[in-house]
Amino acid sequence: MNKQETIALGESCLLHTYNRFPMVLDHGDGAYLYETDGTKYLDFAAGIAVFAFGYNNKAYNDALKGQIDKLIHTSNLYYNEPSIHAAKLFCEASGMDRVFFTNSGTEAIEGAIKLARKYYYKKHGSADSEVIAMEHSFHGRSMGALSVTGKLAYREQFEPLIGGVRFADFNDFESVCSRVNDKTCAIIMETVQGEGGIYPADAAFLKKVRALCDEKDILLILDEIQCGMGRTGKMFAYQNYGIEPDILTSAKALGCGVPVGCFACKESCAAMEPGDHGSTYGGNPLVCKAVETVFTLFEETKLAEHAAKMGKLLYDELEKVKADYACVTDHRGIGLMQGLEFSIPAGPIVKETIHQGCIVISAGTNIIRFVPPLIIEETHIKEMITCLRKALDIVTA
Ligand SMILES: *Cc1c(COP(=O)(O)O)cnc(C)c1O
Repeated sequence: MNKQETIALGESCLLHTYNRFPMVLDHGDGAYLYETDGTKYLDFAAGIAVFAFGYNNKAYNDALKGQIDKLIHTSNLYYNEPSIHAAKLFCEASGMDRVFFTNSGTEAIEGAIKLARKYYYKKHGSADSEVIAMEHSFHGRSMGALSVTGKLAYREQFEPLIGGVRFADFNDFESVCSRVNDKTCAIIMETVQGEGGIYPADAAFLKKVRALCDEKDILLILDEIQCGMGRTGKMFAYQNYGIEPDILTSAKALGCGVPVGCFACKESCAAMEPGDHGSTYGGNPLVCKAVETVFTLFEETKLAEHAAKMGKLLYDELEKVKADYACVTDHRGIGLMQGLEFSIPAGPIVKETIHQGCIVISAGTNIIRFVPPLIIEETHIKEMITCLRKALDIVTA
C-alpha cells in the first residue's frame, strides 16, 4: 500500500477526532523520524513531549524486549518487581511518598481529583467539596480531567461534567484567593501550562499558592504530565521554584512511549484505602520496566542537566528569531519547553516548517511549541531554526 492509500484507508476507519498531517511515520532514530516512503524529519515535537531519549534508544528497547519475554501483565492483585522499583525511583526523584500508576495522563488527573476529594471527605465527613482550577489549563479529555480544563470549547458540548469546579486566573493570586472557601479541597494547575500556550508559573504566585494551601489545609495538585521528567532542566518543574506539591501527576515522558502515567502524593494526604481506586492494566510490569529504565537512564546520562544546557541555546536562538520577524509577538518558556507567539495563525507556519524538514506543533491557534527530545544537541537546534526561518520567510512573503 502506498502512502496515499494508507491515509485514505485511515480516514475511512478511524474516528475523525484529529486533522492529521498527511504523513505516515514508520521508524525513528535519535531526534529523527522517517516516513514509510523514506522522507526524513528532525523532530521537535517528540510525540508531544514524550520521547525524551529520542527514538530507537538501545538500552530502553532492550529493557522492554527483555520484559516482554518475562512477563507483560499480572493485574494489581499481586506484586511485581518493575512496578515497585519504578515507584521507588519516582519517589526519590520527586520527593513524593506514594505512587499510583495509570495508563495515561488523563487518568492520573482523575486519580488526583479522587484523592483530594477523599482527603476532604475523611477530614470533614462530607463529600461536598470544591476544586479550584486555572483558566487556559489543560488536564486531559476524560470527564473529570475535562471538568478542570480551562478551555470552554473543550468542555461545553460534553456537559454536565463533575461539579464543584471553580476557575481562577493563572498567575493571579488574588483571583485564586477569591475562589477559596470552606469547601475547597484542592487547587490544581500545571507548573508550566503546555497546551494553553507555554506559560510558566510565576515564582511569587506559586509560592503564595503553596503558602495559602498550607494555611487552609488545601491540597496543591501540580500537573507535570507535560512539563515534568527533565523537560525544564530539573527532573520536575516545581524543583525550579523551591516548593513541592501535595499531589503530583505525571505521564508523557514518564514511560517515553509506552502508555503509563501516575499520580503521587505525600504520606500526609495518602487518604485512599483498599477498594477506593484501581486499574487492571495500571502499572503493569511492561510499562513499569519502561519507567524504571527511564529513571535509570536519566541518572546515567544526566539528561535533565543536558536539557537545561540545550534549553539556554534554544532560548537564545528563538530570541534572535523574535528579533528578526515582526510577526513574532512573544517568546516564553523554560528548558526544552518553549513557545513562540505570533500575530498570525500558527497553522500555516507549522505546515511549512514540517515541509522544510522539521516537525513542530502548535499550542492554541497562534503559538508554536518547541518540545524536542531532550537528547538534542546544538546542531539539531541550528537545523530546526533554519527550517523555521525558511518557513517564516515563505509564509510572511
Ligand atoms: C497531555 C496532557 C494531559 C493528558 O494526558 P493524556 O495522556 O493525553 O491523557 C494532562 N495534562 C497535561 C498538562 C498534558 O500536557
